[in-house]
Amino acid sequence: MSTNGRRRDGDDDGSVDGYVDGYVDHHVHFLSSVAASVSVDVSGARNVPGVVECLSGAHVKGWRGGVSGGWIRGWGYDDALLDEARHPTRDDLDRVSAKGRPMVVHHRSGHVAVLNTAALRELGVEEHPDGILYDRHDLLGRVPRLDQATLDAAAAALSRRWAAKRIDGFVDATHTNGPGELDLMARWSRDGVVVQVVKMMVGSAHVDEVPPFGTPLCGAVSVGHVKLMPLPGRTDEVEPEVTKAHDAGFPVAVHVVDVETLQVTLDAFSKSAPPAGSTDRIEHNALCLPEQVEAIARSGARVVVNPSFLHGRRAKYERELSEIERNWLIRIRSLLDAGVEVRAGSDSPVSEANPAEMISCAMAHPFVPEESVDLSTATRLLSW
Ligand SMILES: [Zn+2]
Repeated sequence: MSTNGRRRDGDDDGSVDGYVDGYVDHHVHFLSSVAASVSVDVSGARNVPGVVECLSGAHVKGWRGGVSGGWIRGWGYDDALLDEARHPTRDDLDRVSAKGRPMVVHHRSGHVAVLNTAALRELGVEEHPDGILYDRHDLLGRVPRLDQATLDAAAAALSRRWAAKRIDGFVDATHTNGPGELDLMARWSRDGVVVQVVKMMVGSAHVDEVPPFGTPLCGAVSVGHVKLMPLPGRTDEVEPEVTKAHDAGFPVAVHVVDVETLQVTLDAFSKSAPPAGSTDRIEHNALCLPEQVEAIARSGARVVVNPSFLHGRRAKYERELSEIERNWLIRIRSLLDAGVEVRAGSDSPVSEANPAEMISCAMAHPFVPEESVDLSTATRLLSW
């Protein structure tokens, strides 16, 4: 399938006098989105028994989902949106399948996964107290992978669903991307599995193993920023990681969801500049103090926000944030007015890659109406 007529050169900034012939989703996790698309969807569950019920339906039907070794994979709950406001545990999952099929259920964020007893046993951690694993990519790497044919077919279907929504390009912002993920995306693009223009960010652990920033891996796929994912309480690592990436010739994209991490990131940006001709990025920028707006503008960094979160996480924000904090949430207009370049992404699979939803949410900020933007500005958030 040829899509050349719709493709843009990855280096083109896409600003053809405001004319937009397709959208760019500036922050997605494509492989996770593919995996989510072939998992049991538990995102609609309102409570823990609801999650269990989704999975037991799959169990009874002998659901395969392309996972080898008989594993059942679920995806999409959010503890903050469940009535019990907690993660399901191994005991909850064991009510579906204690001894039989291994089961792994991924949190919507991708940072937490819950395993039943059979799964913990297969991974050699049967003694784990509750089966809730936080960022244990070391253990989850041992879960049998989707077979390649299933993965290819799911990737092709997802790419086409996105194309139908006029998504012509995306940035994959996965902090674990390395040579394997870059090769896979290049093959998918060459084989017509993925039809969008793609920029693949890379993990800081892999800077020495991947081609330089901006290198085309094939016509439509190129090497993107180094993605930094500071763990809570480890913000002291931001500055050395930023400097290291810059020294290696890469601009950085830093995961920022709180004001402290934002400040540490801005301090690091003030001490180290990205390679000439490139721009650092601040991902999410969920909370941003008024005085930090100017500092972002001075840094020259781009900000990539997630307008759909204003809709999908509204109840969570209302519950977890004070009224003052909600005034600092997902700024758009104030950043633009300060001269900051702002773009938008869905963070798929965290929220659906849906340009229409991102645009409508950016036009109607539910907490701070002054942060809303008009249609043409909102559309521009989804251009290169
Ligand atoms: Zn993300």
